[in-house]
Amino acid sequence: MTRSSDDLKEHVAELGREARASVNLRALTAISRLINSQLDPQELCNTIITLLQQRFAYDYVSVFTIEALAPGKDFDEAGADESRAGRSWLTSNTPFRAPRPEAPLPPDAPELDRWRLIQRATTTVPGARRVLPLTRGVVARTARHGLAAFVEDVTKDPDYFTYVTDVLSEIAIPLIHRHELLGVLNVESAQRRLDESDLALLEAVGDLLTVALHNARLYWQAQHERDAAQRSTMQLVALHKVGHHLLSEQHLSAILEQITSAALELSDGVYAALHLPDAAQKELALVAPRSIRPLDAEMLEPYTRQKTDRGVVGRCFAEAIAIYVEDTQQDERLENRQNALGFGINCLLALPLVVEDEVIGVLSVGHSEQDAFPPQLQQVLVILADTAAIAIQRARLDEALEAALAQAQELGQLKDHVLLMASHELRTPLTAVLGFLELLSDYPGSFSEERARAFLSRARSASEEMVLLLGNILDATRGELDRASLVFQQIEVAPLVQQVLTLISARARQRLISTVPDGLLIWADEVKTQQVLLNLLSNAVKYSPPRSQIYIEVSQEEVSGLVTISVRDEGPGIALEEQPRLFQKFVRLNDAINMTVRGTGLGLYISRILVEGMGGQIGLRSAPGEGSTFWFSLPAPPAQHPAQETADEAAPRAQTPPAKRREG
Ligand code: ADP
Repeated sequence: MTRSSDDLKEHVAELGREARASVNLRALTAISRLINSQLDPQELCNTIITLLQQRFAYDYVSVFTIEALAPGKDFDEAGADESRAGRSWLTSNTPFRAPRPEAPLPPDAPELDRWRLIQRATTTVPGARRVLPLTRGVVARTARHGLAAFVEDVTKDPDYFTYVTDVLSEIAIPLIHRHELLGVLNVESAQRRLDESDLALLEAVGDLLTVALHNARLYWQAQHERDAAQRSTMQLVALHKVGHHLLSEQHLSAILEQITSAALELSDGVYAALHLPDAAQKELALVAPRSIRPLDAEMLEPYTRQKTDRGVVGRCFAEAIAIYVEDTQQDERLENRQNALGFGINCLLALPLVVEDEVIGVLSVGHSEQDAFPPQLQQVLVILADTAAIAIQRARLDEALEAALAQAQELGQLKDHVLLMASHELRTPLTAVLGFLELLSDYPGSFSEERARAFLSRARSASEEMVLLLGNILDATRGELDRASLVFQQIEVAPLVQQVLTLISARARQRLISTVPDGLLIWADEVKTQQVLLNLLSNAVKYSPPRSQIYIEVSQEEVSGLVTISVRDEGPGIALEEQPRLFQKFVRLNDAINMTVRGTGLGLYISRILVEGMGGQIGLRSAPGEGSTFWFSLPAPPAQHPAQETADEAAPRAQTPPAKRREG
């Protein structure tokens, strides 16, 4: 080899180095320009690895950042935990302090447990995002040592492990900004051995990347804060609107629906529901459930009635505390974790609805992601729950007030009616009573004994009519029948019918024919039963023509033991469509006969209330032109009930004995 050829070679090599240096310089300038124009960290990393691969022919280039784990959590291998590994960059509040070169961290240092290196960009397997613990490998060692690793021959480095098989050399550069480790830039080469000039170049790129990542983090944080502020402003606006709607809505059912739909919207959740206690505070009923998925009854079944002392919702109610289940699959407090999955719920927030220190229900909200309710959002939902509680309470008070008002109005109307009736309806029988008594007292001895007795009997009948009227009016003003005021006893039907017939006969211009078997017994209040029969008979007498027949019949049903008393007349009859109305308060038919006959429209109404109060039934069979049959049935005394005769199946059943026919 001649001197000149040596010189030439040296010269060519020199030229090659210069050319490479100039290429490097140009690439570095390009990278630096890029860094200044690029703020999205992901795009930045993507561009840098592509540049390093294309301009410098490095085979495998990756950028890792170091991220802290949330307590009890890990990033999964594919980096699927998007909420932490994907979207957020370098979000730990405490930085990872880069170790001093003279004091590297051993692989088993406990403080390393909560840190992972997340591969943000790689040319090895595009799109892959590996998650590495800091325990093994050259990249992890670089992070633990805070020093660049130059592995000229990977086979000689015991820490080396690989995902690709053909690698010769590796260089890993720690990305350190003011004593904080941000990540690692890693280059592996298969084509050629890496040398000192690669190390120098990659250190320069590493410096640029560090500044860029730091900037990107600041930018990301600013953006994150801006987004959070924007979100919270929007939430507050939405909350304000919801509050306004809730407090101006009248109907409780609409309010309940609005609450759950607002909860779903504000939380961006998948499920929201209300749970309201029953009167005994023992169970919580599911109200207005709402989900972004279709809900079927079978899924909701376990939640329609929940015990107030069980599960997350029950505890929230019983202890008046908000309960946040960050991860429904791990939390023991949840009764049925499998069901939560069915709803697509991975985290759950249960908030008590409190008004004046009283818990009136629970609002539950579920989200598809774990730990999806940050404190700020929880605060928003607490405000929603507070507003909801007030709205529910207000609507309930409104409803109670309206009901009370309606009742007061009805009572007022009733009072007017009663006063009018009392003066109007009572006058005629009272005049009759007075008339007969006056005749007898003004002209003593002028009438035969028989005449006088007839006068007295008619005065008595008119008095009975007044008693019945007053009884009906009094019962009507009392409203609901007080069952406790009834005196139940065993009554024999035949004498009872006879007494009522005696009362009515003086007034009747019809023939009264009664067919009542002896020995039939009922279990009822005697006075009230008389009042009912008197009402039916008095109607038959009032509404059917003179000299027609009125039949009073009594029979007992074999199986149920019910005793039915019916009053059949040959009056005008009642059209089918009018019949159901007749048993309502103040209903009188608007026909010719009614024009001339006195009445309050209370008799049948009171009769129904009394019969039903005594555990019986009342009804009629009638058609225009065919007369009417009004009937009511009452139970037999408990011991007499044939259905209860279990002692001897062969014993003869109580049956309607042969009836005696009487004519009045
Ligand atoms: P009142 O007889 O005081 O009007 P009721 O409640 O006893 O009140 O009866 C309601 C209405 O039913 C009567 O006004 C009458 O129009 C109709 N009604 C009742 N009983 C008969 C009957 N036996 N025949 C025809 N209409 C009757």
